[in-house]
Amino acid sequence: MSISTETRGVPALDLKAQYRSIRDEIDEAVARVIENQGFILGPEVANLEAEIAAYCEVPRAVGCASGTDALLLPLMAWGIEPGDEVVTSPFSFFATAGSIHRAGAKPVFVDIEPETYNIDPSLIESAMTSKTRAIIPVHLYGQTADMDPIVAIGRKYGAKILEDAAQSIGAGYKGNRAGSIGDAGALSFYPSKNLGGFGDGGMVTTRDDKLADRIARLRVHGMEPKYHHHEIGFNSRLDALQAAVLRVKLRRLDDWTARRREAAERYRELFAEQTLDEVVSLPTEKESCFHVYNQFVIETTDPADRDPLRSFLSERKIGSEIYYPIPLHLQLCFASLGHGPGDFPVAESAAKSVLALPMYPELDRELQIEVVSAIADYFDQS
Ligand SMILES: *Cc1c(COP(=O)(O)O)cnc(C)c1O
Repeated sequence: MSISTETRGVPALDLKAQYRSIRDEIDEAVARVIENQGFILGPEVANLEAEIAAYCEVPRAVGCASGTDALLLPLMAWGIEPGDEVVTSPFSFFATAGSIHRAGAKPVFVDIEPETYNIDPSLIESAMTSKTRAIIPVHLYGQTADMDPIVAIGRKYGAKILEDAAQSIGAGYKGNRAGSIGDAGALSFYPSKNLGGFGDGGMVTTRDDKLADRIARLRVHGMEPKYHHHEIGFNSRLDALQAAVLRVKLRRLDDWTARRREAAERYRELFAEQTLDEVVSLPTEKESCFHVYNQFVIETTDPADRDPLRSFLSERKIGSEIYYPIPLHLQLCFASLGHGPGDFPVAESAAKSVLALPMYPELDRELQIEVVSAIADYFDQS
């Protein structure tokens, strides 16, 4: 398939298109907050918390300053401390392991499944020790980890389960929403997430009232009531402006998710029309999972193709991204954990061959044809 000379280019993500579609409502919500001059917590945040709790099918949700803090706060509230261990995936955004370290504990990595890039439940038990206090499965790219065996191991060893659902709001596992399966879930409202604010923001979801109350206190320096400090927390409040924006967007989220899933389906059709299955593989959608496609991630069969393909796309003004080029166990800052290449081979191999293609609700067929034809052209010339 050849490409027309007049290509529009395709960004990896197009937030302007989303804003254009809801501009009036967003501007009105922002103006309402400005009119009231109530910027910290308050009714916008409380309403968003109730709406997110209902959306994620949990009794409680507590807003905080970022997805990173939404991971840190439950660990703090569970009293995790130096000497403790927390099991997680080495193939995630840095915050997953970073927040374990911030809480004072040691991240213990367990390799991933090659098809879903999520933590491999069959390898978790051998990583459990008497020091393991929690397991953080990451629902990567919009698909949940295989939660049943993870929850069972958590119960057996008395370890809490914290779902890193930063990329997966609205995703499902056997009919349950991401963030409602473990003891707590962490959401991020970073602009590129499926529900993205106009800046940073995050939220913890949980069925545990006591945990929610404690997190609500930790996010305001452990204070309750005013100027009485029960414990030392920090400042991790969610802005009312962010909450007002997010409340408008939350009403569209199911529609946007449906459109992401349609775009994923169209990618599959367009790839099938080309004969590219020998050179690239497409994301696996598990039957037990409802995938919300925060990312549509392909793999090049030959890892040597990944970076040249990315440059080729970039020359055609097609955006793509590598999530993530360096697994967490090989990050310099974790050198003291003593890991080296070969420790988590599946994560290391994924890091060399994954490539996230443009994915957002407004992505249309024309743009996708441009992406897939460019990929076909790359392999034709090579
Ligand atoms: C985005 C993200 C986070 C952190 O969220 P921030 O809001 O950027 O702090 C944590 N884990 C994963 C898997 C993420 O993708």
